[in-house]
Amino acid sequence: MLLEIKELKAGIENKEILKGVNLKINKGETHAIMGLNGSGKSTLANVLMGHPLFEVKSGKALFEGKEILKMTPEERAQKGLFLAFQYPSEIPGIKNSTFIKTAVNEAKKARNEKTINVLEFKKELNSVSAKIKMNDLSERYLNTGFSGGEKKRNEILQMLMLKPKLAILDEIDSGLDVDALKIVAEGINSMKNKNNAFLIITHYERILNYVNPDFVHIMHNGKIIKSGNFDLALEINEKGYDFLTEGK
Ligand code: ADP
Ligand code: MG
Repeated sequence: MLLEIKELKAGIENKEILKGVNLKINKGETHAIMGLNGSGKSTLANVLMGHPLFEVKSGKALFEGKEILKMTPEERAQKGLFLAFQYPSEIPGIKNSTFIKTAVNEAKKARNEKTINVLEFKKELNSVSAKIKMNDLSERYLNTGFSGGEKKRNEILQMLMLKPKLAILDEIDSGLDVDALKIVAEGINSMKNKNNAFLIITHYERILNYVNPDFVHIMHNGKIIKSGNFDLALEINEKGYDFLTEGK
């Protein structure tokens, strides 16, 4: 098993946001988490990646059998976890290519692999950028002045360069037109293999038509309240989220 989350409770200060999340992800699987705004999806993603704002109250998160909740974000990244942010930060002063190359080489060092030189890096960056039809933003400062769509594509570029074991994509589809959405989905699909997995967080089923999730989970009020296959996403698309809470 790649990731096992058991009864995870977490929040900010005295506010409990995650109220006992359970989830199992095997290698080779694509999972989607859907849910209303404010249900706790981004909190789950951030807690898994180790965002310092959130405090874990109880529960476990095992990545390849090892507890990760006390590790630093860097250690988690080196183990093969990756998070594409819902709102990528602009970091003036750090060049995009320097940022990505540093991340790639730190991951390689942690795995005792040979680091990549400038020329090899440029070649791969150009080929991956072309694959996702991305303008050359490598010499620009990280996300600074990027359009919404460029920021999202830049997250996918990082993912494709880093090749994580588990990629968590938080609303990667938001703000993308249908052409950009297809390109992002193709990028995701091109990376899929039997040794990695994806956790795709989204409000809408639209992207799921292109990435074919094996499992769809609905998050509500800090818990996964329903799991199923792609049909569940179609049901949400048809009926909205109301039916989940009716009579509760
Ligand atoms: P989702 O991604 O499903 O829209 P979030 O995880 O962003 O949900 O938010 C879940 C809940 O946690 C919401 O009630 C939100 O207001 C609260 N929350 C998220 N981030 C913060 C924060 N930085 N400070 C205070 N409350 C927060
Ligand atoms: Mg969110």
